[in-house]
Amino acid sequence: TKWIYTFGDGAAEGRATDKNLLGGKGANLAEMCSLGLPVPPGFTITTEVCNWYYANGKSYPASLQADVDAALEHIARITGRSLGDPQKLLLVSVRSGARASMPGMMDTVLNLGLNDETVKALAAESGDERFAYDSYRRFIQMYSNVVLGVSHDAFEEILEDRKADLGHELDTELTAAEWRDVIALYKAKVEEELGKPFPQAPAEQLWGAIGAVFSSWMNARAITYRRLHDIPESWGTAVNVQAMVFGNMGETSATGVAFTRNPSTGEKALYGEFLVNAQGEDVVAGIRTPQNITEAARIAAGSDKPSLQKLMPDAFESFVQISKKLEEHYRDMQDLEFTIERGKLWMLQTRSGKRTAKAALKVAVDMVKDGLISQAEAVARIDPASLDQLLHPTINPKAPRDVIAMGLPASPGAATGEIVFSSDEAEDLAKQGRKAILVRIETSPEDIHGMHASEGILTTRGGMTSHAAVVARGMGKPCVSGAGTLRVDYKAGTVTARGVTLNKGDIITIDGANGQVLKGAVPMLQPELSGDFAAIMEWADAARRMKVRTNAETPADARMARSFGAEGIGLCRTEHMFFEGDRIVAMREMILADTEDGRRKALAKLLPMQRSDFLELFEIMAGLPVTIRLLDPPLHEFLPKTEAEIAEVASVLNVPADKLRQRTDELHEFNPMLGHRGCRLAVSYPEIAEMQARAIFEAAVEAGRETGSPVVPEVMVPLVGIEKEFDYVKARIDAVAKSVMDETGVHIDYLVGTMIELPRAAIRADVIAETAEFFSFGTNDLTQTTFGISRDDAGSFLEGYRQKGIVEQDPFVSIDVEGVGELVRIAAGKGRKARPGIKLGICGEHGGDPASIRFCEEVGLDYVSCSPFRVPIARLAAAQAAI
Ligand code: PEP
Ligand code: MG
Repeated sequence: TKWIYTFGDGAAEGRATDKNLLGGKGANLAEMCSLGLPVPPGFTITTEVCNWYYANGKSYPASLQADVDAALEHIARITGRSLGDPQKLLLVSVRSGARASMPGMMDTVLNLGLNDETVKALAAESGDERFAYDSYRRFIQMYSNVVLGVSHDAFEEILEDRKADLGHELDTELTAAEWRDVIALYKAKVEEELGKPFPQAPAEQLWGAIGAVFSSWMNARAITYRRLHDIPESWGTAVNVQAMVFGNMGETSATGVAFTRNPSTGEKALYGEFLVNAQGEDVVAGIRTPQNITEAARIAAGSDKPSLQKLMPDAFESFVQISKKLEEHYRDMQDLEFTIERGKLWMLQTRSGKRTAKAALKVAVDMVKDGLISQAEAVARIDPASLDQLLHPTINPKAPRDVIAMGLPASPGAATGEIVFSSDEAEDLAKQGRKAILVRIETSPEDIHGMHASEGILTTRGGMTSHAAVVARGMGKPCVSGAGTLRVDYKAGTVTARGVTLNKGDIITIDGANGQVLKGAVPMLQPELSGDFAAIMEWADAARRMKVRTNAETPADARMARSFGAEGIGLCRTEHMFFEGDRIVAMREMILADTEDGRRKALAKLLPMQRSDFLELFEIMAGLPVTIRLLDPPLHEFLPKTEAEIAEVASVLNVPADKLRQRTDELHEFNPMLGHRGCRLAVSYPEIAEMQARAIFEAAVEAGRETGSPVVPEVMVPLVGIEKEFDYVKARIDAVAKSVMDETGVHIDYLVGTMIELPRAAIRADVIAETAEFFSFGTNDLTQTTFGISRDDAGSFLEGYRQKGIVEQDPFVSIDVEGVGELVRIAAGKGRKARPGIKLGICGEHGGDPASIRFCEEVGLDYVSCSPFRVPIARLAAAQAAI
């Protein structure tokens, strides 16, 4: 096996496509060498050695020692220098480099090869004693920290004490002799901590550093980073050993980082910073303020420190040429690291640059315009999830922030408004044209109207899947949930944070992107949906096969979804419509009625409201398909819970509180998700389904009359498990359709289909498809019932499962392809067999998740349906799945 790949002097054994083997940094160093760019020579120890190292009790392959020696020879041939050679001294850097960039997660050692003797050689050769001793003390500090495990602070303390004694403020004020004293103290500290002296032999130093880089693959930071970014442990890291060049060799030396375009706006202009007389870590450490690279950027920033362009025009000119060449070569925006040693430019890294969603769109569109990439490549390059950032107002990054509390970033976007503590107050405010932030301990289905009326929602309790979080995401409202340090006092109308008390009516801002709660109003940036966004969306639409619908029941959501490009409604959850205004009163009357007659009377009050709801949805969707689902949740969800609520509702309904309490007790369920809900309600109380069907068909007739083109409603039956359940409910729906057609004399085309959200339904899909005219996969319930994990209680232990590697992803967020997905596959296959061409869609939360959308494309679903704000994400993800 070849364990080591060398590079340098215009040639390299590896190339950019070898990322898996050489890591990103190593592969790109090799590529830059082959392009003839000035790169200090070096070698890369492969990721396979990392895997070997962990598989063999942290040891190395037998030949590695000889291979490293040969690679050092390679550096010697190019530079004429060797480790430890006082005549021609070589110093090296040792850096990690994984396949995916893991910024700052793993370890780096610079200036390796310095010791008590070689430091003198460095001083003699550079003619700069101060530089040499400064480099040596940096090396001791870094090496002792990274390789030997001595805390960085121990050294900082020594240095600070010395500076105080000497009356210096800046590190740069120390003389060579003073650095020598600091070095002696450093070395004593190491010996005190470890019981042995700082290693002097360069070979020992090198192997120590190589081992430290491999070990850092398993440090806690790296493990967490990998988990957050779904990077497999098996990838391993490579180790790059490279001849040092010095940005700290005086005033003609410098070091810096740059992007070939602006990473926050995408603007086509070199963007970066550098420091004169410094080494790489100084730029990142933020001790000195870096200078701008271009004159234009310096002027824009109003800085009085000279730009690189002004200070070192020759090096700047070569850097501009190289950055152009690299961007054209990689056909993407690059993130570059460079060092200038006594006027000569050296490239130390290039990689694809991280950027904001806005910049990603601009760069991709500009590169298509410039003929660098195709439209399909542009579409493939945008991370669909990142579009979320663009659809909501965001806090101007330049604005000062007065943060009073932190919660969870439950739903993206930022919002400002007056504090209100109840949903009714939110609605009152909205009617007056004022903006409200609804502040609650937690929310319940009864707060839907208040959530709609407010600009944003803040809760002090509850996680990312709490009612507030889920509903806010669905509505596209910014939400911060579980801000536990806030104390809400409903009676007093106050919320207290860190001793500051805010009253009802005071202005606050929430940032749903990071969970911050801020005092007062903060300047915002408005979303920009034309221009680059529209261009990418157009190209995505041209590339995708699946349709994208939305889950929506209110006119506002439906309109919003249309403006985001939804091609119909895939799920209208009718139960949400029963919480609005006085509908809940009629609903409760229905639930409390003792006879079918009594129920029908109450339902008759609901009929016109439902009909006008559906009519409005049909009008907004203007001929696009609309799937309306019959009532799904258990009836007790519509009844009051606390004694106070029971008393209030009893007086509104004019029934004894006892009766209400008794009915609530009767309807109590131990496991409501597996209780009297879904089509089971329609089987027990067919009159509810009949009312809803009538409202749908009458609305369809009216919409057809108004627009002149027929509406084809899709009526959907929830939670079917047994084929006869479906047939029973469908017979009732068909009968209502016939009545409406007879009464109106208008023919209605319609479909009756079912949710597939129980394992039995998936297994019996062929039999169900004999009568069901479409399937929509309800993967929320299908996940819940396949795993036997309650979707409302999963939060308490699923994160632990993720940390222990038992599940890789929350299956309620991204579809479990092997289990739940297999049931979808089986049902799709059986459904198609029984009814060729049967319309298949998905309406669980997964319909807006890019990885799940990829799976839907694989299974060949006709459409995905998701909440309005996920529609653009789904359009893009569906395109990427099809490319
Ligand atoms: C589902 O179960 O996936 C679904 C869409 O229905 P709900 O979330 O309303 O149960
Ligand atoms: Mg469901």
